Amino acid sequence: MVIYNTLTRREEPFTPRQAGKVAMYACGLTPQAPAHVGHMRGVVVMDIVQRWLEQLGYQVDFVQNFTDIDDKIIRRAHEEGIPTTEVARKYSQMYIEDAEALGVRLPRFVKVTENMDAIIEMVQRLVDDGYAYVVDGDVYFEVNKFPEYGKLSGRSVEEMQAGARIEVDERKRNPEDFALWKAAKPGEPAWDSPWGKGRPGWHIECSALSLKYLGAAFDIHAGGMDLIFPHHENEIAQSETYLHCEQPFARYWLHWGPVRLRQEKMSKSTGLVVPIRELRQQYEPAVIRYFLLTVHYRTPLEFSYERLDEAKSALERVRTAYQRATAFLRERGGAQPDPTVAEPYRQQFCDAMNHDFNTAQAIAAAFEVVREINTRLNAPEQAAQPETLAELAGLLNALQWMMETVLGISLHAPDTARSETLEQLMRCVIAWRQELRSRKLYDLADRIRDDLKAVGIILEDTPQGTLWRMG
Ligand SMILES: [Zn+2]
Ligand SMILES: [Zn+2]
Repeated sequence: MVIYNTLTRREEPFTPRQAGKVAMYACGLTPQAPAHVGHMRGVVVMDIVQRWLEQLGYQVDFVQNFTDIDDKIIRRAHEEGIPTTEVARKYSQMYIEDAEALGVRLPRFVKVTENMDAIIEMVQRLVDDGYAYVVDGDVYFEVNKFPEYGKLSGRSVEEMQAGARIEVDERKRNPEDFALWKAAKPGEPAWDSPWGKGRPGWHIECSALSLKYLGAAFDIHAGGMDLIFPHHENEIAQSETYLHCEQPFARYWLHWGPVRLRQEKMSKSTGLVVPIRELRQQYEPAVIRYFLLTVHYRTPLEFSYERLDEAKSALERVRTAYQRATAFLRERGGAQPDPTVAEPYRQQFCDAMNHDFNTAQAIAAAFEVVREINTRLNAPEQAAQPETLAELAGLLNALQWMMETVLGISLHAPDTARSETLEQLMRCVIAWRQELRSRKLYDLADRIRDDLKAVGIILEDTPQGTLWRMG
């Protein structure tokens, strides 16, 4: 398999740090607003990466952070009149629900506020080793001390200064030095540190968390392309100096492209945002997931409702062929699958996935299988022959593996029992129950749980909040 590595700017054969195991990290969300389609692209891309690596026989440890304290969260807490912890809890919970709805298996989530020790330890060592300096309770990384600075983004320090959106701060030794630790402003959440009360800068958290949970020279570090500079550049600088430049921080740097709306990047800053929650009211999650996979992950994805409608009818074609062939086989007593006809398409699919996770080409291979199925179903008399039935069974197996196992897209139309209305209703019920519990009305809260259980809905209280499922 080859992966495009942003660090070397080319496709490279993938060899993990440790045989049979892959350690990967993706920069996660700052939970302070509902996730939009751009966020979900990254989530789905990483789910595909994990699924494919597992198909290749690797055991994957996938870690992702929640930036559960930062300026935006503090601002949002003021706006909503709730504590920062509540802002982070609420929007992480929404994000997890959105991800699960899109068929994503959750990574190992780690939170900044639960790992302050590791962050402070890392900053301290950078200060001790002379890579960072302290000014009035702030700690800055001194970029000049890392000669390889710029190797990921390919920018020189001069270029960065020329393009300077970097604010001038007289206390910094160089304009491009960045904060590892920020002294607390009055009224802000703060943690004790050797430099006084404060909180970590954004870049240091990803370095500290990924190194803590995955160790040095872990395999894949991923994120959106907009994070290459300065975020990932800074992560490399502080991590590799922390490791005394004896080991790389991460080995393969994978970056997914943006989702665009009317030619502009979908982000809170452009104001062009389609929350995934809203989209889920209009489209089945499997359709959204299919749409997100129709282009290679590095290519910008143009968002439009026409494209979503196209995705919807494309998925319907796949499902119809699958359902018809399944019924056709069942009516004729089934058959021992013959994989011969499907084999070249399976190979085509594998080649596509092995070539930097090219889901667009992989989907094309799945459509070849659909075409073969339809050709047979359109000549029913011939299709009823035992050898053709066996081919059909083989094609169905291949299609199921491609669509469901690898791409994570169900070949069955959604279970109407779990409709969007029910989803919304359950969100209300869970919120009411939470409210009852916070008012210590535990008997009522328990009654809700028991009554739901009686109608076949199971509530599960987890550290991330309450989840529900049909029992
Ligand atoms: Zn990060
Ligand atoms: Zn290529």
